[in-house]
Amino acid sequence: MERICVFCGSSDGERPEYLALAREMGATLAERGLETVYGGGNVGLMGALADAALAAGGRVIGVIPDGLLARERGHNGVSALEIVGSMHERKARMASLSDGFIALPGGLGTLEELAEALTWSQLGLHRKPCGVINLGGYFDPLIAFLDRAVEEGFMRPESRRMLLVADRPAALLDAFEAYEAPVVRRWLDPDEA
Ligand code: AMP
Repeated sequence: MERICVFCGSSDGERPEYLALAREMGATLAERGLETVYGGGNVGLMGALADAALAAGGRVIGVIPDGLLARERGHNGVSALEIVGSMHERKARMASLSDGFIALPGGLGTLEELAEALTWSQLGLHRKPCGVINLGGYFDPLIAFLDRAVEEGFMRPESRRMLLVADRPAALLDAFEAYEAPVVRRWLDPDEA
C-alpha cells in the first residue's frame, strides 16, 4: 500500500474527540510512510487530517472540484492539489490514486463516498480494502443497516465482510495489510463504471 484515501466530515463534529481522531489518522498514515488522499478541503475533520499528516512529514494529495475551490474551501498547504471538473470526477480520481479507503465520522458526503467505494468493491471493480473508524460507536447504525440488508436478502454476506471496522487508525491499517478481497463475480470493467 502506498496511498490511502480518507473520507471524513467537512464539519468539526460536536465533540473534540472527532478532530483528535482526524489528527491521529493523518499522523498515523504519515508515520507509516503512507500518502493521504482526501477531498482537498481545509475545513472540519478534513483540514485537521491534512494538517496532521503534513506536520508528521507525510505527503497529502487533495482532489477538489473547481466549484468548491472557488468558494475558497481548498487547502493551500497540501503537497499536491488536483482540481477536477465535478464531484464524480473527484471520486473516480481519488479511487484510482488510492490503495484503500477509510471513512472517519462525517455526514452525507462521507456516507456517499464510502458507499461508492464499497459498491465498486462489491461489483469487483477493485479489490482494495474499505473500513471505518467506529469512534464511540458512531457507525453502529450503518453497521446495523448492513446486517439487516444481509438478513433480509439484499446483500450477500461476503459483501458485508468488505467493510472493516476498527476503533483506532493503527488497528484499521493493520487490518488493511491483512485484507484479502473475496472472490466476487466481476460485473463491469472499470471503464464501464
Ligand atoms: P460531509 O461528510 O457531508 O461533511 O462531506 C465530507 C465529504 O464530502 C468529504 O470527504 C469531501 O470529499 C466532500 N466535501 C464536503 N465538503 C467539502 C469541502 N468544503 N471541501 C472539500 N470537500 C468537501
